[in-house]
Amino acid sequence: VPTAPFTYERAGSFAEAVALLQALGEDARVIAGGQSLVPLMLLRFAQPAALVDIRGAGERAIERTGDRLVISALARHADIEASPEARSAWPILAEAAGQIGNVRVRHRGTIGGSLAHAEASAEWPCVAVALGATVHVLGPAGERAIAARDLVITHLTTSLEPGEVITRIELPLPAPGEGAAFAEYARRPGDFALLTVAAVVRPGSARVVLGAIADRPIDASAAAGDGSDPEAAGRAVAAGVEIGPHPHAGVEWRRELIAVLVTRALEAARERA
Ligand SMILES: Cc1cc2nc3c(=O)[nH]c(=O)nc-3n(C[C@H](O)[C@H](O)[C@H](O)COP(=O)(O)OP(=O)(O)OC[C@H]3O[C@@H](n4cnc5c(N)ncnc54)[C@H](O)[C@@H]3O)c2cc1C
Repeated sequence: VPTAPFTYERAGSFAEAVALLQALGEDARVIAGGQSLVPLMLLRFAQPAALVDIRGAGERAIERTGDRLVISALARHADIEASPEARSAWPILAEAAGQIGNVRVRHRGTIGGSLAHAEASAEWPCVAVALGATVHVLGPAGERAIAARDLVITHLTTSLEPGEVITRIELPLPAPGEGAAFAEYARRPGDFALLTVAAVVRPGSARVVLGAIADRPIDASAAAGDGSDPEAAGRAVAAGVEIGPHPHAGVEWRRELIAVLVTRALEAARERA
């Protein structure tokens, strides 16, 4: 048998998922796209006693509500890549979604699952921090909102409490003069990134967030200044950032990569702005 034994339930709503998790105890896990959890179960790194399938817990909706873009936690990477609402609000979303894994992964994996899984090189945590996203969750104690920058604690560890389920992600719509862009480098298309960069510029300031160089997204905005000189900002961010070890690339090579990709992301963000 490839995985350890487990029971399987389907939740018809997020509230039902929370109730099932409570009833099934601490060895129960939700499963959305299964694109991170199932590989871990096959390796027996994860051995949940019970799975609560949340694919039917709500719509995979992506919509503008007032001054926000609201993305269901169940929206798949491919849904976001194709969504006219997401593309017109923040083109960076389609840009990042298109870099995730392969077409099979993008059609099954969800943004909620990616944020909850908190892989250090994942695209969504990096983009969510850069755009100032709010992650809405439902749990035994009711609803709460977590700023994306407070969600990932370290690789594969979040501030979600036991039994909490991500229900939706909310992003502010771009203000006039605001633009964002994403840049990434992986050894082969579909591989996990060696570096992700999400850059957001607005009049007088810039936000630059780096992924895959530490155990969680790094906000390097202080070094980037107002982003008006992308090349200087790229060099400053690269010089100032602490780079963790990686099996496939040395520290100085990645420092150079940071300078190049931060420059490119800021240039593209400025064009969009
Ligand atoms: C070949 C391959 C390549 C990949 N490449 C990339 C890549 O380049 N970049 C990248 O970011 N990812 C990559 N992935 C992972 C993929 O993006 C996953 O889809 C994503 O990380 C998790 O989403 P999921 O819906 O599949 O979650 P699942 O695998 O179903 O769940 C993952 C974890 O999140 C929890 N979870 C799921 N949904 C919720 C929720 N709503 N609330 C709370 N907890 C929840 C689960 O309990 C589990 O712990 C790759 C996967 C594969 C198989």
